[in-house]
Amino acid sequence: MKYKSTRGGVAGLSFKQAVMMGLADDGGLLIPESIPLVDNRLVKWASLSYPELASEILSLFCDDIPRPALDDLVARSYASFDDDKVVPVKALQDLYVMELFHGPTLAFKDVALQLLGNLFDYILEETGTHMNILGATSGDTGSAAIAGVRGRANIDIFIMFPDGRTSPVQELQMTTITDANVHNIALEGSFDDCQGIMKTVFSDLEFKQQYQLGAVNSVNWARVLAQVVYYFSAYFQLGSPGAFQAAVPTGNFGNIFAAYLAREMGLPLQRLVLATNANDILARFFATGVYERGDVHFSYSPAMDIQVASNFERYLYYSLECDGAKVKAAMQQFTETGRLDLPFNTPGFDNTFVAASATDADTVDTIRTVYQQQGYMLDPHTAVGVHVASQYLMDDVPTVCMATAHPAKFPDVVEQALPGESVSHPAIEALSDLPTRKHQLGADVESVKQFIASQTAH
Ligand SMILES: *Cc1c(COP(=O)(O)O)cnc(C)c1O
Repeated sequence: MKYKSTRGGVAGLSFKQAVMMGLADDGGLLIPESIPLVDNRLVKWASLSYPELASEILSLFCDDIPRPALDDLVARSYASFDDDKVVPVKALQDLYVMELFHGPTLAFKDVALQLLGNLFDYILEETGTHMNILGATSGDTGSAAIAGVRGRANIDIFIMFPDGRTSPVQELQMTTITDANVHNIALEGSFDDCQGIMKTVFSDLEFKQQYQLGAVNSVNWARVLAQVVYYFSAYFQLGSPGAFQAAVPTGNFGNIFAAYLAREMGLPLQRLVLATNANDILARFFATGVYERGDVHFSYSPAMDIQVASNFERYLYYSLECDGAKVKAAMQQFTETGRLDLPFNTPGFDNTFVAASATDADTVDTIRTVYQQQGYMLDPHTAVGVHVASQYLMDDVPTVCMATAHPAKFPDVVEQALPGESVSHPAIEALSDLPTRKHQLGADVESVKQFIASQTAH
């Protein structure tokens, strides 16, 4: 399988090259040249373990890693999960939830970042090279990326977060990882400052080259691919129904794009239910056909506080007849005007998706009612998904909502929904006894560059 850019300026990359490139050099996103169909494999795959299933699916997209090596790195990636099924499906009254939070940082990003860490390591080992990962986080991505690469000889990771503005749990999940290759940068500034600095450092091509900078953000193809796997697992855990639908709490459109891809591969996903919080650019798009930037609102589901969804461009590519020139023009229009008017600009143009948003009040209500009536505790992100999914339930088609984080990561919202009810997880309780390390830096590009240079001299 070869990879190309959504904007038409890059083509013919191997899987390994696509993983190492991250963002395509022409500013687009990397996608496979074609989407493999699963055909009758669905029957054969029904009895596989999660790592076996992941290897089968990955091997359809990756022909430059020998199968035994692929099997090995996939097995190692999911050995760190604390459930036999890796991503178990649980039945609630009206719908199912798929728990994607059994990895080391208790959020679904572990599913992709545990694999990406092993992939990077494998590729660097093979070429005898070293890379420095630079990332910016408002919380969840940073800890999952660190957990994916801690202790690796060929990788140093630098994660910038806004000092004092992540939740205490999120900060501890990063700063208690004191492996020598992990560099937590507590920046005196906002998350936007962190992201701005990251973009500026990456745009200095000489610096990027000299320090072999790499990225782990959600545009990396391997992250999408790792997420395709659990939609297949959901189908098998539901007993291979004739059709099912998935509800996905959405921010950057990475998770739900993986569902879209699984559907294109032939998984009988009848409909995708896209759930947003007050940051509803995507819900508005699927309701009206207009993609228009708004202001970022801070909500109880912070990992979804995103206005411009970086993975949306992949979906655009398929909607614009796989025409790179059209995607390029559309993205240019969006950058210039903050608005996209698409040729398929009519409500309901794509019946694959339905979408709606949930307020903070809906989120809290959903956590409360589901717990009181069914004894199951949702995290705020999953609650957004369940709230929206409940508007789109179907009689004969089961619905599975992706549970993207463990509620113990967000004790304040749980406390508000269920006063006096405590929520805990041993992995989080253990954090308060561990030593921490972070480097405080001012919010300027030069300090960050100097810091990277000083730490990689070894
Ligand atoms: C990242 C994240 C999301 C959003 O996922 P996208 O792939 O960006 O749409 C939802 N919930 C949680 C808990 C997350 O960490």
